[in-house]
Amino acid sequence: MKKKESATNPLFYERKNFWKEAPSTERQAAMDFAVPYKQFLNVAKTEREAIAYTLDVLHKHKFKAFTDKKKSHRVYSVFRGKTIAIAVLGNEPLTNGFNLVGAHIDAPRVDLKQNPLYEDSSSAMLCAKTHYYGGIKKYQWVSTPLALHGVVVKTDGSLVDICLGESEDDPVFVIPDLLPHLARKEQYTKNIGDAIDASRMNLVFSGMVEAGSTETEAARAYALKLLNDRYGISEHDLLSAELELVPATPARDAGLDSSMVVGYGQDDRICAYAGLMAVLDNLDAKPKRTMIAYFSDKEEVGSQGNTGAHSVFLQDFIGHLLDLKGETNSAANLRRTFINSQILSADVNVAVDPNYPSVHDRQNAVLFNYGVGISKFTGSGGKGGCNDANAEFNAKVIRTFNDAGVFWQTGELGKVDEGGGGTIAYILANLGAEVIDCGTGLMGMHSLYEMCSKADLYSTYRAYKAFLLAD
Ligand code: MN
Ligand code: MN
Repeated sequence: MKKKESATNPLFYERKNFWKEAPSTERQAAMDFAVPYKQFLNVAKTEREAIAYTLDVLHKHKFKAFTDKKKSHRVYSVFRGKTIAIAVLGNEPLTNGFNLVGAHIDAPRVDLKQNPLYEDSSSAMLCAKTHYYGGIKKYQWVSTPLALHGVVVKTDGSLVDICLGESEDDPVFVIPDLLPHLARKEQYTKNIGDAIDASRMNLVFSGMVEAGSTETEAARAYALKLLNDRYGISEHDLLSAELELVPATPARDAGLDSSMVVGYGQDDRICAYAGLMAVLDNLDAKPKRTMIAYFSDKEEVGSQGNTGAHSVFLQDFIGHLLDLKGETNSAANLRRTFINSQILSADVNVAVDPNYPSVHDRQNAVLFNYGVGISKFTGSGGKGGCNDANAEFNAKVIRTFNDAGVFWQTGELGKVDEGGGGTIAYILANLGAEVIDCGTGLMGMHSLYEMCSKADLYSTYRAYKAFLLAD
């Protein structure tokens, strides 16, 4: 009885289940939206690959780089191959502010060290040393097939792309885990976080040697010969390489009803993809305010460096837009532009996990299938390190979503004092803009098999699309 009343009482806040309430055309649209999304996850497993995919799509839609001589209302700028800003100029002056969806395209992973190769005397195998990137649970990265992605930049400046382990006949790489039979002392007596030592996350790289070889490091010599034949590189070149190990498995549907997607790197490429599609599908709209999608790098390690959200890159991009609009590209105008702007910090949220409901406050956590998540604040402890969005802006975003019929819900990252996390929200808010966190709920975040609901993926796209056109 009580439940029935609550479902109809207009004074109550009740989130809506997408599958239950959405029209059948929307149900189908949500399923269809996930098809190219999975393709994107498969070809964009690193930040550089996400940029390459984005550029390809932008060129198909007649976007021009700033460096292009032809002027266009659709422009982009890539910075150091790892971060991008995309804009569609609006009719209003830019100093009135822009609408921006900001996601990140780096993801937790395991990198090769700069001087990785060594012949392991105990096993008589050639191994490769690694250094993990971002917040991983180390035990998830052992005993699983990994692909090697990245670039080798030779000292002459030439760049060699590496992508090994993705096609059916490619070899993959494995960091072997200890067998349970012998794990009693080495692992079972330790905390789960210490059970896998980072210095023991070495790849078994190769094992063959040249027939009849008398070299002391014959396996190393053989592997380097293979690398040289295939890519024209030597061990010297690895010193200036960026080689990332990512899960070799492709994204695919999950669940009996295929209502979910399981795949690597959905934090935060799900929001990047939704943001990119939102911009493209708004191209006929002739927006009043300039629409921007911004994909940053290095979020998983604190957004530092010249490709992270702390970089001057985004401000420089906005300065260029002022020029393009014929407005004075001054420091004062740049400040004014940011102050008048509205930003969705498009990063994933955590959906209630059926195995660990106790880490959430369910009524303030997002659930699968109930739409895009809005988080007024993130951070940890007493909202430490967070951006706490202004209530006025929070209300405006909700109004925009309601007007567009977007399924949305409010949710914070876990119970108070349970842990926490941050996004790029505060970095952009420091520039004076209105910023709120808004993204898709995931299960198994930062694992090799992150999972999302297709209803939420689609709702995220619809949310960003409506927001980009908001007044
Ligand atoms: Mn994220
Ligand atoms: Mn993350």
